Amino acid sequence: MDEIRIDGLKVFAYHGVLEEERKTGQDFIINAVMKLPLQQAGIADELELTVSYADVCSFIASFMRDNTFKLIESCAEGISTALFKKYDNLCELELEVKKPQAPISEEFDCVSVKIFRKRHRVYVAYGSNSGDPEHHIEDGIASLDRDPMCRVKRMSGIMKTTPYGGVIQDDFLNGVLELSTLYEPQVLLKRLKEIEKEQGRVETVRWGPRTLDLDIILFDDIEMKTDELTIPHPDMCNRDFVMKPLAQIAPDVVHPVLNKTIKELAEVKMEKHII
Ligand code: ADP
Ligand code: MG
Repeated sequence: MDEIRIDGLKVFAYHGVLEEERKTGQDFIINAVMKLPLQQAGIADELELTVSYADVCSFIASFMRDNTFKLIESCAEGISTALFKKYDNLCELELEVKKPQAPISEEFDCVSVKIFRKRHRVYVAYGSNSGDPEHHIEDGIASLDRDPMCRVKRMSGIMKTTPYGGVIQDDFLNGVLELSTLYEPQVLLKRLKEIEKEQGRVETVRWGPRTLDLDIILFDDIEMKTDELTIPHPDMCNRDFVMKPLAQIAPDVVHPVLNKTIKELAEVKMEKHII
């Protein structure tokens, strides 16, 4: 993809773990590679169709002066999130924050962190069957959408579902949403668990009642399996309450392992009731 590059932007600011650094300040050097389509701007010769590198430089410089972080990791993350929020056409970002005067007793040239961020397309399934399910779902989704690293793009209808897994309990309300997020998979899972907690979820039996369950169903085209996270969700195709709402908002998305579209995988009878 096309790129706009900024090399060696120098900003005097006040980031550091030591109190001294936050008082006296020091120089930081920023390198940024912004990936976005530039052909239309190039053909039309119009500044409005691209991103002004001058604006980006002053935006980064103001952001760094207006905020104080202990870590250059946090400084980089903050700049990245703010740039994605400001520029809708920004697809990917490589951002390096260098600290040539870091308080290190040994001789060194420079220390730096470099982060790689992009907008990910994720499908999240939600379900609730205790407390006030409509309220937990609405509140949980609002909380996700308020997160500066997330934007809810589309929502399915909400289905009423008979519980799964043999535990006697109330019916569930279930649905799926499409999320655009800057989070990487493990960090998104952690964030979803926090939102489940906000809605009062406590661990009970497997497949037992829950105020809010948020599961990652698909995350771009990735396949991964760790002790705490499997993507695509291993049980998605067995669950009508995932496949039906998912087919409403992502019929043509291809399951990266099964190589079939969601529409193909969702061929199921409508015995449940969409409200
Ligand atoms: P379930 O969602 O299967 O009904 P839980 O919500 O209790 O059950 O999830 C149990 C664990 O499953 C979570 O703590 C999480 O670490 C793990 N897990 C594995 N893959 C995923 C995924 N794709 N989305 C959400 N949780 C997952
Ligand atoms: Mg879950």
